[in-house]
Amino acid sequence: ERLVGASADREDQAVEAALRPKDLGEFIGQEKVREQLDLVLRAARARGATADHVLLSGAPGLGKTTLSMIIAAEMGAPIRITSGPAIQHAGDLAAILSSLQEGEVLFLDEIHRMSRPAEEMLYMAMEDFRVDVIVGKGPGATAIPLELPPFTLVGATTRAGLLPPPLRDRFGFTAHMEFYEPAELERVVHRSAHLLDVEIDTDGAAEIAGRSRGTPRIANRLLRRVRDYAQVKADGIVTRDIASAALAVYEVDARGLDRLDRAVLQALLKLFGGGPVGLSTLAVAVGEERETVEEVAEPFLVREGLLARTPRGRVATPAAWAHLGLTPPRSASA
Ligand code: ADP
Repeated sequence: ERLVGASADREDQAVEAALRPKDLGEFIGQEKVREQLDLVLRAARARGATADHVLLSGAPGLGKTTLSMIIAAEMGAPIRITSGPAIQHAGDLAAILSSLQEGEVLFLDEIHRMSRPAEEMLYMAMEDFRVDVIVGKGPGATAIPLELPPFTLVGATTRAGLLPPPLRDRFGFTAHMEFYEPAELERVVHRSAHLLDVEIDTDGAAEIAGRSRGTPRIANRLLRRVRDYAQVKADGIVTRDIASAALAVYEVDARGLDRLDRAVLQALLKLFGGGPVGLSTLAVAVGEERETVEEVAEPFLVREGLLARTPRGRVATPAAWAHLGLTPPRSASA
């Protein structure tokens, strides 16, 4: 696992529960989403109704699970958490749906990875609070309709565009979660430091925030590594110097690039003059698989405006040269 990876590792899972904001007021950033969700939930509460189904789209680690728990808390409802890959058969979904309590929130992570039959069952459940349970096999099979109590489905996906339109259309409210601004991540770091009993100053928090790739999960993870360093090598207080020294040990640079990211950029700049160079050639040059370069390193480099994918191959931007402190050759500086 990479220190700057966005999916939750074991340690994240163990500590995240303690760091999760418990209500909308505590949830940092995502102003629009919070404002809209607040209205949706208040209105449902005022009507004494179950909240509309909510679709949350956005990259891993941006707070989708947290928001689903907040929705349940704000509605005073219990929550059940599962994921698309865990539901391979329609029967798995029927079992979950039929055991929900009235008003319960069902959080379905990676909803785009559900099996097709389960997905079709979900359409009817979302719309009519009803499922058809198939009993028996072959020509003798019969569909037994089963009434469900009204519930709120909170679906999460990395990209809403991955969902089939009939599923997407059944959500009353869709929220797109953006990467966080550095100032927002700074608040996340301060908040988490407080909960973890770590003393940190403003510059220390800013330093961690700047390396966190717009992602609260990564900010929390870097904070824990920096805390360890501060305890072992200093007096436990996290300052800018301590944060940069700690993250230098873990090879996470000032912009949040790790060793792999920098190796890709370095090869692109030093060996290929900034490109264009084909993905396979670039991958061989850094000694990695094509897929690793394309799926692990490049998305963030592209997002940061350091690398561009063009029809002729990978190209470094002027910002890439600047970031690695190198001077572009004349022809590439345009
Ligand atoms: P996702 O489900 O999108 O992968 P999570 O909801 O599990 O992300 O969030 C990952 C971690 O980041 C959690 O521990 C949570 O505490 C923290 N986090 C996410 N969003 C926020 C936020 N807006 N404010 C404070 N902490 C957040």
